[in-house]
Amino acid sequence: MVLQELGSKINSALSKLNTATVIDEETIDEVLKEIAKALLSSDVNVRVVAEVRNNIRKEVLSEAAAGGATNKTRQIRNAVFSELVRLLSPSKEPFTPKRGRCNVFMFVGLQGSGKTTTIAKFANYWARKGWKTAMVCCDTFRAGALDQIKQNAIKLHIPYYGNPLEADPVKLAEEGTEHFRAEKYEIILVDTSGRHHQESELFEEMEQVQGVVQPDEVIFVMDSTIGQAVAEQAAAFKASVPVGSVIITKLDGHARGGGALSAVAATDAPITFIGTGEHFDEFEKFDANSFVSRLMGMGDVKGLMEKLKDTKALEKAPEMMERMQKGQFTLRDLRQQFQTVMGMGNLGQVMSMIPGMSQMMQGQDSDQATKRIQAFMTCFDSMTEDELDCIFKVRKPDPSKPGEYITTFEKTLSESRMRRIAKGAGVPLEGVLALMQSHKQFEGMVQKMGKSGLMNEKQMQQN
Ligand code: GDP
Repeated sequence: MVLQELGSKINSALSKLNTATVIDEETIDEVLKEIAKALLSSDVNVRVVAEVRNNIRKEVLSEAAAGGATNKTRQIRNAVFSELVRLLSPSKEPFTPKRGRCNVFMFVGLQGSGKTTTIAKFANYWARKGWKTAMVCCDTFRAGALDQIKQNAIKLHIPYYGNPLEADPVKLAEEGTEHFRAEKYEIILVDTSGRHHQESELFEEMEQVQGVVQPDEVIFVMDSTIGQAVAEQAAAFKASVPVGSVIITKLDGHARGGGALSAVAATDAPITFIGTGEHFDEFEKFDANSFVSRLMGMGDVKGLMEKLKDTKALEKAPEMMERMQKGQFTLRDLRQQFQTVMGMGNLGQVMSMIPGMSQMMQGQDSDQATKRIQAFMTCFDSMTEDELDCIFKVRKPDPSKPGEYITTFEKTLSESRMRRIAKGAGVPLEGVLALMQSHKQFEGMVQKMGKSGLMNEKQMQQN
């Protein structure tokens, strides 16, 4: 998981609440101090951290202390969740491409930020969803830029435009976009030159390219490894061209990523995607809610469903799809999802999206993740056909009360049955409980998505 260390630190601070007998002001302050330390070590701005801490404190202390420790723990968890979401949510909405017309995106950024790689990832993202996509290379500054685009384009089977004999980037940009506009491409991506530093020449060129291309959106690609210093860079670029959104790269394994994300969000430029590795599929749509949910080990079912949609797994199982549209989700369905997940690659990332799994997975690698899923699969094998096919009564889900799901389930599946399943599968009872909890959360989410039409074929394509 991206920013795994930050996530584990926040969770370990919150887990202190589970063992505390009384949750008084002192305990709350101690937990908040740890969370603040975790954010600072991720390079989040000191002033911002103080604000986050105060907001959580105020919210938690102002709420009636009714309900004892469990209730308070939930309140604190919720307050941390919403503060982190707020921290990562810019107020502006990004541009969304429309089908049946040319949507031109111009990419800007410093050399080495990962701009060329990001364009290929972005192109791949849309092309896989069925959009007619093409790339234009007008980076004439960096030797090898055209070759890099060409190689990526060949690998991804996406057309590109470039001319090694043309030295004028503005002319290339104009010709390339004209060419693909005439061919009615829906997504046209224009790669501009980068520089090592912010130089006036670079900005002049960017402005000229923007003038001829008339992009629908200017995307600024930024390297997260410089932490909160990204804010200054973003401001300089924004002063020259109308940056509409930001893509942050290299968020894999860099401790300072939290600072980069929060600093960009504070500039009010929406973060649309994040780069989490060198490969084309190491690229994720950014959504503050989903991101924080995964960071705090709560999973991201919506993101996972979108990923499953991309693998066409749901289309291959129309009956399951139909049930899911009605909000029904059996244990057999969950088993099928896990089977698909096993074949999806990048298991660590996928696992962090599964509720109930992400927390268990913190600090574990892909091999351990595979073993976990295999243990779940043996639990399924120990269940009866009826248990696998049973459609449980779906109650309104409340992700902040994971314990309630187990209670609901136990009414249907007795503890003695769960013990027998655990014994048959050779796993501790907690393993079966975790599986049930995961199922309940999936079911709740499927119902919510079914109702809101998110499982709807067309709507998911557009998302
Ligand atoms: P450009 O000069 O901005 O076009 O940068 P490139 O696309 O050539 O990328 C510079 C380096 O960063 C290359 O080695 C890429 O493989 C690498 N890179 C790009 N995005 C990511 C990412 O999200 N994570 C990691 N780890 N490396 C990345």
